[in-house]
Amino acid sequence: MKDAYVVPENGEPVSLTEDGHFSVPDNPIIPFIEGDGTGPDIWKATQPVLDAAVKKAYGGKRSIKWMEIFAGEKAFKMFEEWLPEQTLDTISKYHIAIKGPLTTPVGGGFRSLNVTIRQKLNLYACVRPVQYFDGVPSPVVRPQDVDMIVFRENTEDVYSGVEWPAGSHEATKLIDFLNREFDCTIRLDSGVGIKPISVTATKQIVRKAIQYAIDQNKKTVTMVHKGNIMKFTEGAFRDWGYQLAREEFADVIVTEKDLWEQHQGQLPEGKILLNDRIADAMFQQVLIRPKEYEVLVMPNLNGDYMSDALVAQVGGLGLGPGANIGDVAAVFEATHGTAPKYAGQDKVNPGSLILSGVMMLDYMGWQEASELVIKGLQKAISNKTVTYDLERQMEGATKLKCSEFGQAIINNM
Ligand code: NAP
Repeated sequence: MKDAYVVPENGEPVSLTEDGHFSVPDNPIIPFIEGDGTGPDIWKATQPVLDAAVKKAYGGKRSIKWMEIFAGEKAFKMFEEWLPEQTLDTISKYHIAIKGPLTTPVGGGFRSLNVTIRQKLNLYACVRPVQYFDGVPSPVVRPQDVDMIVFRENTEDVYSGVEWPAGSHEATKLIDFLNREFDCTIRLDSGVGIKPISVTATKQIVRKAIQYAIDQNKKTVTMVHKGNIMKFTEGAFRDWGYQLAREEFADVIVTEKDLWEQHQGQLPEGKILLNDRIADAMFQQVLIRPKEYEVLVMPNLNGDYMSDALVAQVGGLGLGPGANIGDVAAVFEATHGTAPKYAGQDKVNPGSLILSGVMMLDYMGWQEASELVIKGLQKAISNKTVTYDLERQMEGATKLKCSEFGQAIINNM
């Protein structure tokens, strides 16, 4: 199996510094998983775009050395394993990787490969920026007002998989115990799931969000929770978030209470406002007052809903990038699935994976290259040269294949 994982020549690994930052050489080895279904189509369009941007930005001084690693159907065909240990080891070793979507085989209690990768590598922050590209069809009147980034906790909440079906031995025993010992009144024919939210995971994700706001000169961080109902999980998320801000970021953070009591509603220069919103109200806020929000941080389930809803406001999943980031590795990935009915047709929009590549370049500190990709993408869209998903909603647009859209981005850099 080892032979299939070919380490590229002339490349160097990204390394982790003692203070927990990634140090990126000029010729970093970056592992990639092309993915299932339409994954190979969008990867074939994405890699040339990223290479062209790096070449144009640095004139050959820098270049990415791509290393294919395997997961999903391709891995199963080659090794009869859906997620070989060597893939996880390679990501850990090289720290930064990019991937297309992976099929989750249905039935047999199969765990999603994406969830497994996130949990095994402790990629605790799911990061999804949401920005509007001029000319993209959107269901809202002012999509350009949306410029937010979601930090979604990635490892716990109702996603931790601690749940049992109604009537199972475990569910029956647990319900009986809760009803007897804690005076609960849970119906005996219920399925049960556990929603753990820890201080550790909450502080990890809120710290990442606040640090991002500091690094990127953002003015507002908003914790989104349902603490009015779930006091000791979602409510605690909010309380621990404020506690972390007091403990570690007291010099930069101003809370909403302080803003009005001490600063007459005016955020002092160089400070960041930390506020919180109840999740249901927040879904209205992002539609009605999107300009007031920049960095959003929330538990897993809220983050799942909120990031898709926000991406819809700016024109849909085809242009929604994402990353799963931990302390020792970061995996950048398209946020849509494998769209298997279009596999091999060179048809779908590669924008999500390309923009995930943009996030990766930013993360590597290669902003000159990432800006070129954004410029090329914006121009391709402004020229109305787009893939089928956007073309069918735009008047007078030219429909391009997946690979042609990648080429249009390169031509417009
Ligand atoms: P999906 O693959 O995202 O496809 C649903 C629909 O979204 C497609 O039919 C298409 O809509 C649109 N779409 C998806 N990707 C697109 C692209 N690149 N460009 C333009 N339109 C795109 O969702 P699914 O059918 O529910 O899931 C299929 C498989 O993907 C499942 O095995 C699931 O487990 C997996 N999945 C993987 C990930 C991941 O790896 N991160 C995430 C989600 C799902 P139209 O037909 O209307 O054009």
